[in-house]
Amino acid sequence: MPSDSALRIVWIYPDLLSTYGDQGNVLVLEQRAQRRGIPTETYHVRSADPVPEGGDVYLIGGGEDRPQILAAQRLRRDGGLHRAVARGAALLAVCAGYQIMGTTFGGEEGQPVEGLGILDIASSRGPARAVGELVAEVDVALNLPTLTGFENHMGVTHLGPGVKALSKTVVGVGNGDGFEGCYAGHVVGTYLHGPALARNPALADLLLSWRVGELPPLDDSRYEALRQERLAAVLPA
Ligand code: GLN
Repeated sequence: MPSDSALRIVWIYPDLLSTYGDQGNVLVLEQRAQRRGIPTETYHVRSADPVPEGGDVYLIGGGEDRPQILAAQRLRRDGGLHRAVARGAALLAVCAGYQIMGTTFGGEEGQPVEGLGILDIASSRGPARAVGELVAEVDVALNLPTLTGFENHMGVTHLGPGVKALSKTVVGVGNGDGFEGCYAGHVVGTYLHGPALARNPALADLLLSWRVGELPPLDDSRYEALRQERLAAVLPA
């Protein structure tokens, strides 16, 4: 990791976990940092490569069951993501990536597969595929606007006492218990695809602020118009 002044963004395993335009989350983070005058350096870490420990914000995306299992095995063996999170790096983990952060998740036959244990969550196979729009009211402590996006997963996720729910599900399934996603320290897990940060730029700013402090606001009127349009389309009248 060469430069000390740039914000280092690390995209974990794009070759295994990037099913729903997860690269969009990387682009949104880069753009929102750069528009505040913060230079960025982005690292695409393929699954054959070691995970660098000196990053600022890590992203891991969604994927099919088999690549998800492979990613969990490799990340466990590598240990770099554990060490980065222990040093205070921010991490956004989406869907398959979210499930991997827990102690266990359901494999392709529903068998329990060992996760990384970075988040105090456990996932298993749910009764039916959750697919469609997702709307969720964020935990007041985080002070973020209502999240909107899309979900597509079989897993349900049980939150342990070591994490807080990210949000309360208004439309959709999320964790399957009335809540959607979770957070602990500088780690956020979510079932929101979309990509989630293009739909919810305030979430991108939360991750950035954990590394660089308070950020000046940007003109987000176009994002806000999209959010209002989606809310009007999916919320019950
Ligand atoms: N394979 C996981 C599930 O079905 C994650 C799916 C995804 O990332 N979209 O629950």
